[in-house]
Parts: sequence; structure tokens; C-alpha cells
Amino acid sequence: MADGNGALGGNAYRADRNLQALLRRSAPWLTEGDAERLDGFGGWVATAVDEQADYTNRFAPPVLETLDEDGHPRTAVRHNPLYSAAHREVYERGIVGLNHGAARRPYTLTFAMGYLLAQSDISIHCPVTLTGAVAHVLDRFAPEPVRNAYLPRLVRTDGKAVTGGTWVTEKQGGSDVGATRTAARRINDGIQLSGLKWFASNVDGGIALTLARPEGAADGGAGLGLYLVPARAPDGAPNRYRIRRLKDKLGTHGLATGEIELEDAHAVEVAPPPDGLKTMMAALGYSRIHNAMASAGIQRRAFAEALAHAETREAFGHRLAAYPMVQDQLVEMQVRVEASVALAFAAARAFDEAQKTPAEQPWMRLVTALAKYLTAAWAITTTSRAIEILGGNGYTEEYPTARLYRDAQVLTVWEGPPNIQALEVLRLAGADSPGLAAFHARLDAILNLPFAANHSAFVRARALVFQARREVAALTALIRDDQAEAQRQAHRLMDRMAKGLAAALLVEEAATDWGTGDARKAVVARLFAGQELAAPEPPKPGESEGQRFFRPLARYERIETPHPD
Ligand SMILES: Cc1cc2nc3c(=O)[nH]c(=O)nc-3n(C[C@H](O)[C@H](O)[C@H](O)COP(=O)(O)OP(=O)(O)OC[C@H]3O[C@@H](n4cnc5c(N)ncnc54)[C@H](O)[C@@H]3O)c2cc1C
Repeated sequence: MADGNGALGGNAYRADRNLQALLRRSAPWLTEGDAERLDGFGGWVATAVDEQADYTNRFAPPVLETLDEDGHPRTAVRHNPLYSAAHREVYERGIVGLNHGAARRPYTLTFAMGYLLAQSDISIHCPVTLTGAVAHVLDRFAPEPVRNAYLPRLVRTDGKAVTGGTWVTEKQGGSDVGATRTAARRINDGIQLSGLKWFASNVDGGIALTLARPEGAADGGAGLGLYLVPARAPDGAPNRYRIRRLKDKLGTHGLATGEIELEDAHAVEVAPPPDGLKTMMAALGYSRIHNAMASAGIQRRAFAEALAHAETREAFGHRLAAYPMVQDQLVEMQVRVEASVALAFAAARAFDEAQKTPAEQPWMRLVTALAKYLTAAWAITTTSRAIEILGGNGYTEEYPTARLYRDAQVLTVWEGPPNIQALEVLRLAGADSPGLAAFHARLDAILNLPFAANHSAFVRARALVFQARREVAALTALIRDDQAEAQRQAHRLMDRMAKGLAAALLVEEAATDWGTGDARKAVVARLFAGQELAAPEPPKPGESEGQRFFRPLARYERIETPHPD
């Protein structure tokens, strides 16, 4: 059986040469201490967390208790001890705390931890995302007394951290947040909330952020305030809200997602209308980057499982990995993993830059939407392909692939389904918008890199990036000042932008590696661009490029330059 220890080699970080190279190239701030932390984290997720995920998923998912030991009504979620221990330890390892306080580290470091964690357990990664999102909003946007009172509880690394939740979705709509019906009432000095939140993950976390409409406030998003809801009221009693039930879900079985009935719950104002929704969007922006990390991570794990199986399983007298069709399938998965990692980390970098330079925000939001959309879509196809390569075993719960596949499906839905990302792209990529300008500038900078005297290895990938850039320009011109046309073209625009950007990022990585005499990434960039951006070509005899370079592509080995054409 290809368990986590096997396929991930007992350490998700050490086994991932692509991640190590990406951080070397693009994170000059990464210290030896950071790398050691990632190494320790990679070992932990590939062993203890992975074993816990398998156990929790199959045998011990969370349970809602509705009565206490004396039969009095109360709601509490019971987790198995392995899940609770892993959930506690992940904060001790700094996945949220590292981004706060005097010696704070870049968010890219903790996003990288999210990428590693998701390779073993989305059901731990989700609460981490929510906790980090609440901490980020409190740190950046909350009034000082609120920040001082609550942030330290979320960011501590002594094993006693309180965890977070973001309660946005209501029954009448998750995407249409302006339809929120939860009411906020000012009582003496405090605020009370009443209403029903339809989806709340990490439902038993200690501090949630939620949206509500104060009495007399405007309709729609502009009338919403952002509130903090602690699990305990100021007098120490349980706050006045109830977990109605846990959702019975397709996947993420280890994660407690429930419905919350707010019954005059004690709340603290974080941002009054009209700033409530905008401030909550900062939490969602952060979560979407973790979502992209999770989508890249789950693909990386699915690929590792598929490769480990294909290299050991024999059928018709040969190992599966020797068959050209299997090689093509694995290479297709691999280049999508690498493109997903490139996109997710481009979003992470943009997030760090936007914290320092607010003018970078349109680019950060755009690259986040593009990364969220495309990586999540591939999370489903890549995990599905892994099951096919494992065959019948892959479909059983004895192997991790079945869980990966079910969990992957949530990544397209939560934090905004694809159409909602497309609407975000429309907001940011309109003609003359700073987001669109940043997109073109990014691609142009890459297209204009000095490419080892324009070596032919780069010609096709660059031509296809250029073609995607032209197509994006044509689409944005077409939808200029035409809302109806914009709605019709939105998905296509997002798809072209996401794939064009992913190809460009791979070309950029390839240019750096080429300078060290390694042509492997140039092959990846060319394969990716051909696979995702080119029109189908007439059949040619002989090995495909993926078959020819199967081993170095699959095992992340060097291909010496000059690259044979
Ligand atoms: C396991 C799980 C955990 C979750 N955890 C949380 C949580 O912790 N907190 C939280 O707040 N929510 C949570 N959610 C809810 C999730 O964020 C929402 O389900 C999601 O945002 C979509 O909202 P919705 O379900 O209301 O669907 P809808 O908003 O009704 O959307 C349904 C479909 O319509 C499309 N659509 C909507 N509007 C448009 C439009 N204008 N144009 C084109 N297409 C459109 C959407 O893209 C989507 O495909 C969770 C969901 C799941 C499955």
C-alpha cells in the first residue's frame, strides 16, 4: 500500500524538490531556521497527521453532543484525541502565530505550511485557514482594544491557542452576501446578534467573525457590519448561540461543519457599515490563497500516490510506469501540480507585497482569484486521475486517494465557486483597471526576459503565452462598457488569464533554472503551454515529449542544457 510515509517519503517537504527550488528562487528572505521549520513540519504532516487523517476519516469523525451528562441541553462537538492533538500541534508549530507579533515572518512561509498540511489533511487545514483569516483581520483592521483583547488568544504557540471561524453563508445565499439577514441590536453598551448561519466550519472554534445588519442600516452589502463572536460571553458563560446540527458532507469528514443559530449572541463590533463586508473580504482573500495552497497540495499528494503505484505495480509483464499512456497521464498531472504551485505561490507573494504596498492590492486580488479558480478545478481532475492509475485499490478507503478525491471537491465550492471568482476577475480586469495593467505588465516582464539567447527550448511556450496575452486583450476590449457581454465572456476571460499566467510563471522559473544548466523546467513550461493553451495538433509519429523525458519529469531530476529539441 502506498501510504503517506511511502509516497511522500516520510517528509512532504524533503520529498518536494519543486517547492524547495521555488522557495530558493522566489523567497530570498527564507532563513535556515525557516527551512528547518518546513522540514520538521513536512515530516510531521507525512507521518502523524496523515495517520490521524486516515483514522478520523474512516473511523472517528466529529460528533455533535446535544445534552450534557445530566441531560441538560448544550451543544458541543466531540473530536477524537488524535484529531484534537494534531489540531493543537499545528498552531504550536506556528502556522498562524508566525505571522504576528514583533518578529513576524512573511505569510508565504505559513502558506507553504498550508500547502504541506493539505497533502495529508484538508480537515485540519481548513480550521487553520479560518483561524489565520480571523487573526489577519484582527491584526490589520480591528480597533485597537478589540485587537488587543482577542488577537493574542489566536496567535499563541504554547498549545493553548483559540481557533477561529468565519460565518458568512446564510441559507438564502452564500455568494450573495448582501442578502444577509442576521440582525445586530445595540443593547446598553453591547451588541447582540440573532440569525441563522448555514455553513460554519470549525464550528466549535473559540472566536468567529460574522456579518450582520444593524437596525435601520441599508439593504445589501453596504448595510452590513462585521462582528466578532466569542464562544464565551464576558461573564464566562457560554455565548448565546447553538450548533443546530453538523452537516453530513461528501468529504472533509474530519472537519466539523455545522449550522449556527445566533440567539441574541454577545458580539463585538469590528467594522460598522459600510465597511463590514469589505473587511470580511480581507478574511476571504487570505482564505482563498490557502485554498489555492490546498488545491496544489492535494494534487501533489495525488501525483505522488499515482507515481509510487505506477512504479511498483506490474500488469501484462511490465511496471505501469513503463507504458506510454501511463507516462503521458502522469506527466500531465505533474505539470499541473507545478503550474498550481507556481500560481498559488504567486498569490502568496502578492499577499505579502500588498501588506507593505497597498497599491499592489488589485494585483493581489486578481492573482488570488485566478489561482483559486484554476488550482481548485485541477484538484478534482488530478485526484480523479490518481484513482484511475491506482485502479480498484484507489477507489477504496484503504488508500488515501478516495479521501483526496472527495475532499478536493470542496475546494471549488467554498471561499467562492468558479463563477464568483469570474465576477471578481471582471471587477479587477476591466479595461483601464490597475488589475489588468498589472497582469499585462507581469506577462510582459516575463516575455521580455533574456532567454539564454532566445534558445529554441523557450520559443513555443513564449509564443503561447503571448497568444494568451493577446486573447485576454481582445476579450477585455470586447466586454468594455458592456455588462451583458462581460457576463457572457467572464469564465473564458478568467480561464485564459489563469492559464496564460501559469504558463508565464513556469517560463520565468525555467529561465532561472536554465542559468544553472537545468532545462527541466523549460520542458515543463513547454509541455504545460502545449497542453493548456495550444490548439490540438495533427498526430506525429514517435515518442511524445512527456514520454521522452518521463523519468526526470516525474522524479524531479535535472535535464542538462542545452536542451535537445
Ligand atoms: C464543507 C463546506 C464548508 C463550508 N464552510 C463554510 C464556512 O466556514 N463559512 C461560510 O461562511 N461558508 C462555508 N461554506 C459555504 C460556502 O462558502 C458556500 O457554499 C459557497 O460560498 C457558495 O454559496 P452557496 O452555497 O450559497 O451557493 P450559491 O451562492 O447559491 O451559488 C450556487 C451556484 O450559483 C453560482 N452563482 C451564484 N451567483 C452567481 C452569479 N451572479 N452569476 C453566475 N453564477 C452565480 C455559484 O457560482 C454557484 O456555482 C462551506 C461549504 C462547504 C461545502
